[in-house]
This record gives sequence, C-alpha cells and structure tokens, in this order.
Amino acid sequence: MTLRLHNTLTRQIEPFVPLTPGRASLYTCGPTIYNYAHIGNFRTFLFEDLLRRWLEASGYDAFHIMNLTDVDNRTIAAAAAKGVSLRQHVDPFAQAFEEDRDWLRIRPPHAQPRATEYIAPMIQLIQGLLDRGIAYQADDGSVYFSIARFPAYGRLSRLDRRELRPGASQRVSDDEYAKEDAADFALWKAAGPEDEAVGAAWDAPFGRGRPGWHVECSAMALELIRRKWGVDVLDIHAGAVDLIFPHHEDEIAQSCAYTGKDEFARVWMHGEFLGLEGTKMSKRYGNILTARDLREQGADPGAVRHLLFNTHYRQKLDWSDAALGAAREGSARLGAFRDRLALAAGREDDPESAAAAARFRAAFTAALNDDLNAPEALGALHVLVREGNRQLDEGRRLGPAFQAAWALADDVLAVAPSARVRTLTADALAVAEEDGIPVRPPEVAPPDPADAEAWALRWAAVRAAEKRGRNFAEADRIRDLLRESGWEIRDRREGAIEVVPRNSPLTLSEHRPPH
Ligand SMILES: [Zn+2]
Repeated sequence: MTLRLHNTLTRQIEPFVPLTPGRASLYTCGPTIYNYAHIGNFRTFLFEDLLRRWLEASGYDAFHIMNLTDVDNRTIAAAAAKGVSLRQHVDPFAQAFEEDRDWLRIRPPHAQPRATEYIAPMIQLIQGLLDRGIAYQADDGSVYFSIARFPAYGRLSRLDRRELRPGASQRVSDDEYAKEDAADFALWKAAGPEDEAVGAAWDAPFGRGRPGWHVECSAMALELIRRKWGVDVLDIHAGAVDLIFPHHEDEIAQSCAYTGKDEFARVWMHGEFLGLEGTKMSKRYGNILTARDLREQGADPGAVRHLLFNTHYRQKLDWSDAALGAAREGSARLGAFRDRLALAAGREDDPESAAAAARFRAAFTAALNDDLNAPEALGALHVLVREGNRQLDEGRRLGPAFQAAWALADDVLAVAPSARVRTLTADALAVAEEDGIPVRPPEVAPPDPADAEAWALRWAAVRAAEKRGRNFAEADRIRDLLRESGWEIRDRREGAIEVVPRNSPLTLSEHRPPH
C-alpha cells in the first residue's frame, strides 16, 4: 500500500514519490510571531503533525522544517506600536507558540529557523535573481521580482496569465495581497524609519533593508535542505489554503528562478480553515480562540486533537462547544480503555485479539494512506477499542499484537486524554485483584514521573481492594499517603476511580505578553 496525497499543483490525489526513496523533506510555513497563534492556525499545524507522524510511522526518514516568521509587516508594525525592538516583541510569542505546540502534542520540527537568523541566504538568493535579470531594483530602492520573466507564474493558484498586470508600474510591496493585485512583488524592501527604529534593517549589496515575507521561506527551505541532503527540491510543502496565493505562488517563482529547477516542492498540500460559529477565525474579525484560552478553560489536548482529526483536513470545520464536548467523550472512551489495557495486558495473543489487531492495522493504514483520512483512521481506532473492551469484558487478556495496534494509533493520532487523569474502572480493578495486584508498592513514590504514576495507580488499586474488604482505616491511610505524594483519588460512578495529580499544572509562561 502506498501513500497517496492531494497535490494542489495538479488538484489530484497522487502516489507520493519522494526525490529519494524512503526520505521525505517537509517544509511547513510556521506562525508569524507578532501575536498568539489561534486554534485555526493550530488546525493547520495539527494536520501537518499528522502528516509528519504518519510519514515517520510508515518508515520514512522525515526531515521537518517549520519556520518562525519574526520579520514582516505585522511584526514590525506591532513592535513599533509598542515602542520596543522586533526581538523584544517577538520573543515572548515564540515561547508561547512552543508551549502551545507542546501542549497540543505537535512534534517539534527538526529545524525551526527564524527569518532574522537567515538574512545571509536571503540576500544571496535575491542577488542571484538580480544577476539573472529576473529581479530588478525600483526607484523606491526596493528589489522586486518580475513575474513577466517567470512564465510558470500562477501555476499553483491557477491564475490566468491574461489577468496578470506585470511591469514596473504594477508593484506590490505589502507582504499580503489579493489575487487581483497579482503583480511584481518585493523581495527586499528598502529600510524605512520604522524598520530602523525596531531593528529590522540589514545591509545588503543592493541597499539597506529587510526581506519580504515570501523570500524568507524560499531561502530558509533551500538553505536547510541543501545542508541536510544536498538537494534543492522539497518533497512536501504544506500550509493553510490562504497561503496558496500569493505566498506559495511567490515561493515557487523565487525558488525555481533561483535554482533553475522546474519545481520547488514535489507535493503542495493545503489545509482548510477552521470556522468559529460559522465565521472564519481571524484576528481581523476579532473572533479568536487561542490554544491558551482552551488550556485555561481546562480543555484536554487529546480532545482537541480528536475534534480536529474528526474532519478531513481538506474540509471546512466549524468549532463549537458541542463538538468539543463530543470529542471529549470520544477521547475519554479511549483513555478509559488505555487504563484498562495497562492493567490487563497479556503476554500472548489469542486468535481473536490478534485478528482484531490485524483488521485495525489494515483499516488504519488504508485510511491514512488515502490522503490522510483521519476521520476514518479515528473510526478504525474506536472499532479496535470496542473489540478490546468486549474481550476484556469476557475476562480475557490482550496480548502484544493488540497492544502494538493500540500503540500505533496512540503514536500517530495521540488523541487519548492526558495521562494526568487516569481512570481505573471497576472491571479493571477486579482483573487487577484476580491478578494479585494488591501487592503493595513501596511507601515512597519513585522519582521518575512515569514510574510515580504507575506507583500511584497501583496504590489506588490496593486501596480499592481494602475498601472492598471493609478495611476503611487502611483505605484512608493510603489516600493520605497518595495525597502527600501529590495524588488525589476520586471515587467515581460504578466503582471507578480517578487518579489525578494535585495542582494539575497549567504551565503557561509566567511573563505573558500583553494583548
Ligand atoms: Zn512560508
């Protein structure tokens, strides 16, 4: 079975054929760190995380680059408005982005270049385009890309060349512009007083200034894949649909004109928007929900991932409290199974559980290989969990094949609730008791957090057995012992127990930048 991906270049789902078999370079346009990334931005980053995770799970040697845009119109304007340097303005937002990314379980990229750290390769690229006569310096001192000199311009966004208005009289220097404004775009913007005031100006052979947003991604991507693998074509380039034009169109033009290759990325992938109550989430419309809003509301990252993966990345999705509630339930079902499995894992597979695991693998792989069909992959996971629960209900164990199937799903989707709250169901406790689990763990918690969690779960199982034996004094003593080690035990319906670390940390950074 091969991986097939939708390529915006051809508007088709095609087999993924990387430059070198078994290797996959992936460039994803990162956030502009002038403000907090919102949950709509994170929908894109999560689709890209799923892509990265699936490539890795499929055995590819993946090289993932995600930039941080720290110099563009918006970061400069925001720093100038506050009267601070560019660096002072963006640094806290870069830190906040990483916290939110980690909270949402998005794997950190292998390379996370910041635009201001790659000014030299940008100057080199622009100089190359000037030397080839594809770029020119205008009266305003800025350097522009001449789209008339690049016949393939408009291929990605299917822009009709008759609509183009090329020429020195039609230029755009803004980093973002509309399709009807397709015109020569700025590669290097001559430094103005505002740029100098915030420290966003650099010397170049063609004058002091700063890079345009589009050239930043081209230069960073080319520099990093050259260093890594000595190539100048990406396997996959991804972003949100609003980047198709002009950003990605311009990236292709600059990169291909510079390298002389007829492609900059073999596959272009674009994720659809996330709406909020039917409106596109945008800072412009003021209907923003950030990852930290969700954290402060106590949302679980597993539930957020579950919600977003329940819709295909190329379909529009509307965020609502009801959708999050449903996702929380789905995620909780998976979490309850995970905890049950942890206490009832067997050493061998019986034919039935091995068959369930094999069916899951086939369905899960087929779904993700079909242009990352995450909703179907989630469906396959819930089927697996239903079958697993049924077999556990019959008092059976689930062997290594079943455990590996669960681990694959958890590795690729990561939609189970945070392990912070662990649930031991009455069934799981009964199985544990049969197994002789009320073997008492040591009185002192082990230092490693994962061991400490297992320790706490074990004590919780012992306490449940003591309560059933009506040994309430000992049950209370265990509750206090766990409390002293930072764990709270809560009795739940139908004999289930939750084990929760006290003071569940919301590790938001301490110095939060003002809105
Ligand atoms: Zn980009």
